Amino acid sequence: MSTILIVEDEPDILSMLRDYLEMEGYAVLTAGCGRDAIAQAQRGPDLILLDIGLPDMDGLAVCRALRDHLPCPILFLTARITEDDKLQGFASGGDDYILKPFSLKEIGARVQAHLRREARSRYRTRIRFDPSLVIDYSQRVVFVREQTVTLPKKEFDILALLSTHPGQVFDRERIYEDVWGLEGDGDSAVVSEHIRRIRVRLEAAGSPPMIQTVWGVGYKWAKR
Ligand code: CA
Repeated sequence: MSTILIVEDEPDILSMLRDYLEMEGYAVLTAGCGRDAIAQAQRGPDLILLDIGLPDMDGLAVCRALRDHLPCPILFLTARITEDDKLQGFASGGDDYILKPFSLKEIGARVQAHLRREARSRYRTRIRFDPSLVIDYSQRVVFVREQTVTLPKKEFDILALLSTHPGQVFDRERIYEDVWGLEGDGDSAVVSEHIRRIRVRLEAAGSPPMIQTVWGVGYKWAKR
């Protein structure tokens, strides 16, 4: 079970977030100020939701204090954001922003996407899927019949998502949300085009067809 630390000084928002995330199956730690946050962070949460406007110290300062010894994703909660805030936030080691007021569904989706991404980046091995196909997740390259096939970033991200969950069906929206996250303009049609390109590259190099289309639903990695 993943543990989420919520840092928020407004009791209503804090309890709403806590109830929702617990209902979604997470273990939840809470803190109402920066000092508490730093203390709670010692318990090693998997992700932190961090309000920027805290009574004792700035959320950005909390983030900087945690960043060096805590590798987990940190998502800022903030009422307004300027380009400057964003830059400062990323510079202090934050991973994402969620604007207030937010919907709980949005929070749930972002938390899930960040945790999945994190799980994948810990996946630092080479996996052989077929005698002719090896994926190296740390080098982000694919070997087909001992030859290196380099995929553009998004294509590799999609390949990594599907191949680390063999047999699981992903719809286009979920792939889009996971791989593009905040950067995207919301058009999940781009997923089909990327899948098409991945297939062309791998199969041209001699890989068996590993990405299967589940008609009307989405895509899955062949389970062998
Ligand atoms: Ca606040």
